Amino acid sequence: MTLTYSTDIVIFGGGIAGLWLLNRLRSEGYAAILLESDSLGGGQTIASQGIIHGGLKYALSGSITGAASAIADMPARWRNCLQGNGDIDLSECRLLSQDYYMWSNAGIRSKLITFLGSKGLRGRVEVVAKTDYPDFFRQATVAGILYRLPDFVVDTESLLHVLVKNQGGHIFKIDSGAIEFDHDDAGNIDTVIIQQQDQRLQISVQRSIFCAGEGNQALADQAKLDRTKSQTRPLKMVYLKKRELPPVYVHCIGDSFSLTPKLTVTSHTDADGSTVWYLGGELAEAGVKRSDDQQIEAAMKLCDELFPWVDLIGARWQCFTINRAEANVDNDYRPDDACFIEQNNVVVAWPTKFTLTPSLVDKLIDHLAANAVTPLQQSNTNKLSSVLDQPKFATTHWD
Ligand SMILES: Cc1cc2nc3c(=O)[nH]c(=O)nc-3n(C[C@H](O)[C@H](O)[C@H](O)COP(=O)(O)OP(=O)(O)OC[C@H]3O[C@@H](n4cnc5c(N)ncnc54)[C@H](O)[C@@H]3O)c2cc1C
Repeated sequence: MTLTYSTDIVIFGGGIAGLWLLNRLRSEGYAAILLESDSLGGGQTIASQGIIHGGLKYALSGSITGAASAIADMPARWRNCLQGNGDIDLSECRLLSQDYYMWSNAGIRSKLITFLGSKGLRGRVEVVAKTDYPDFFRQATVAGILYRLPDFVVDTESLLHVLVKNQGGHIFKIDSGAIEFDHDDAGNIDTVIIQQQDQRLQISVQRSIFCAGEGNQALADQAKLDRTKSQTRPLKMVYLKKRELPPVYVHCIGDSFSLTPKLTVTSHTDADGSTVWYLGGELAEAGVKRSDDQQIEAAMKLCDELFPWVDLIGARWQCFTINRAEANVDNDYRPDDACFIEQNNVVVAWPTKFTLTPSLVDKLIDHLAANAVTPLQQSNTNKLSSVLDQPKFATTHWD
């Protein structure tokens, strides 16, 4: 049996980019639906550390570029949303930490202060007085300097729930093998076809937008888009769990300033109430060349060296590999801004960073308006709900 449906926009992928976009498009009056082939957030989003960056990492790489300035505006933009005053109401999203810190070896204090000043970050990155140290660093038994960054940390699971809360009737689970694209004579995709058991769904669209992270390339190939160039960068992330572990949110930087901090730690709570330290940064980038055992050994050594005052005996350690998915805009270099590529009436989009999602979505909405894509269809999805299920939410790697 064939069922037909018309919508303005169909989004593929229910990570942060697709979900944020769905919220914004619908509030702009577009009829939009989102199709997810696995679980909501189950790609990079749930694996992310949830740090809303203010640009320090970019500045560490050299000069403050346009993109670094764009990211510098993001914490304020997110904070507005978290207070219920932004373009999306995130007031029910849980914050894991209002502050994010940078910890450096005391030996490089003056070098670092000069460096931060030269990068125009003075005023945004402040040295924390010892009397104001958070509990974790009050216990420190090694000399170091603590800086407070404009960054903060959101709980990605709760963010996903908030982004889905008012959109449930517009999000559907599909089998990625069940999609076909029908092109018109100009090469535009006018119909997305989904074969669901004995039902054939034909969805007419003005625009298709791929926000499928690592899945973007396969979708682009399927849609015969030859201009999409993507890349993946693997990371071997480590987490450790222990009940009485104190929470900490910090980049630890080494003696040499580099794009990636030596270690980036965020703290979470697992389903049993144990604290989870989630470890990224240079450890995760370099870790892809190590076996799991070697990576855990490297992580243990680094934590002992950086936080010798913390008792990690009895902690349970694990690691896993996950790819960052990005546009390949500059011959395999790391892009530093959100980015999209349009070919015919299909847009392929990457936020590059969780943090930059609001900026990506602004660009997409401006682009639609500039190309005369206006709301035309009604938003009644009852027909689709009778055939397609809702996808489940992803669970964190430690649960
Ligand atoms: C380990 C790690 C830590 C990170 N930490 C941070 C951080 O602290 N701060 C920060 O700013 N950024 C961080 N990032 C980057 C950030 O997580 C990503 O930029 C962001 O989550 C990408 O979101 P997305 O929605 O584009 O992709 P994803 O989250 O990967 O979502 C893509 C979705 O598309 C679905 N999909 C795939 N194929 C199809 C298909 N054919 N049809 C339909 N759906 C499909 C997938 O199942 C998935 O749900 C981190 C990334 C990683 C990997």
